[in-house]
Amino acid sequence: MRTADGSWAPSPGGLVRALLPMLRDSGGMWAGWTGSVDDAPEPFNLDGVDLHPIPLSQSEHDDYYEGFSNDSLWPLYHDAMRDPSFKAEQWAAYVAVNQRFAETLVEVAPPDAVIWVHDYHLQLVPSMVRRLRPDALIGFFLHVPFPPWELFARLPWRDEIIDGLLGADLVGFQRAIGASNFAAIAQQLNADLDVEEADADGFTITRAVEGGDDTDRDGGHITTAGVFPISIDVDEFDLLAAERNVRRAAAALRTSLGNPEVILLGVDRLDYTKGIGLRMRAFRSLLEDGTLDADRCVMIQVATPTREAVEHYRDERHEIERLVGEINGRYSRIGHPVLHYLYRGLPIEQLVALYLAADVMLVTPLRDGMNLVAKEYVASRRDVNGVLVLSEFAGAADQLIDAVLVNPHDEQALRDAIATAVEMHHPERTARMAKLRSAVARSDVRGWAERFLRELEAAR
Ligand code: ADP
Repeated sequence: MRTADGSWAPSPGGLVRALLPMLRDSGGMWAGWTGSVDDAPEPFNLDGVDLHPIPLSQSEHDDYYEGFSNDSLWPLYHDAMRDPSFKAEQWAAYVAVNQRFAETLVEVAPPDAVIWVHDYHLQLVPSMVRRLRPDALIGFFLHVPFPPWELFARLPWRDEIIDGLLGADLVGFQRAIGASNFAAIAQQLNADLDVEEADADGFTITRAVEGGDDTDRDGGHITTAGVFPISIDVDEFDLLAAERNVRRAAAALRTSLGNPEVILLGVDRLDYTKGIGLRMRAFRSLLEDGTLDADRCVMIQVATPTREAVEHYRDERHEIERLVGEINGRYSRIGHPVLHYLYRGLPIEQLVALYLAADVMLVTPLRDGMNLVAKEYVASRRDVNGVLVLSEFAGAADQLIDAVLVNPHDEQALRDAIATAVEMHHPERTARMAKLRSAVARSDVRGWAERFLRELEAAR
């Protein structure tokens, strides 16, 4: 990403930090959009890694990025909880931009290259690259959920997307259900595919290749679908949480809130998938019936601005801000708001200070590929304290089974989960947090990347 002075720096986040050293050590390169419209610098080197910027025009940004990716695929892949807009001109932009990525990769990749493609914005790239460079070994990882047939089938370009993904040697998903949805849909759309369940939630999907013998598996291109739950840089959060200034900031935060007995926290992009409104309504209802006391509890919601050009996101923001006003209007005292709301990104040190101060962390998405915030909270709690309330609909629920798991669609269950978390006694809190911390410690983003690349190599 570009910094304020126009120079380049690695984007924040564990994924970039995990992949950059691997690329540097292997002489690899990174191709991607710069994040700014019509910004097309020449390829350059950053910290020993060659970067190949791929430009997007304003209309491609609108149609490909905000449009097809974030207003069609995103809602469709998240249970179609908002109506996906299917527009032919946006699809055309999606194809064109995927083609540009594929052509750049084909141009810069050395013979027998390993190419790793990330996420729903680039699902056509694997087969586009394969057509031009059959020597390449191609992996694809989907960071978001992969939907079931009933939803995916709505997509007017469903065949093209499946075809695009089947160009990969390995397609990775966050959860077993994603891999199984993908395998079932591929089979449903292509009678000529041979789909077999492999070990550990995986599938092998074989397609006869032209010139090969249809009845001979060796003549076919094999795509493996596997499960690779992503994680965070665990040590980073553990170390930050140990820093004196971060611990001081956490203590100061509590004081500045008037030393409440319970601090509840939510940290999300302001996305309609995150269930921020449901969580606030549950909080309101617990204040209403006296289960929570506004003099003793404070909720903080940090919401990062995101996709503000998309109407569903503007609507969601208005609804959340209306709720914040309503709840504070009804339950706050002067100088003591019961609900603090920040609509901005925060530096990571402040985020960790918030995690340390939060007695109850509310991670209640209606659907989420993984949800890294849940793992960050656990990794930060080296004091082995704090309660995580976690939606069953987040990928993280597969690993963080000692959280207070909840179905956020069930209003009563959400109320009960928050009340349980607030009232949980110290021995149970620490016992659960100890198990959560072991689960997070077992999975680190570096291990995740290494395992994906190892399994990709095995496909060679
Ligand atoms: P998503 O990728 O859908 O946004 P995740 O929970 O998987 O959801 O990842 C969100 C990432 O963004 C986490 O690393 C989290 O720390 C970071 N983040 C979320 N909100 C903020 C914020 N207000 N300020 C800074 N970072 C944030």
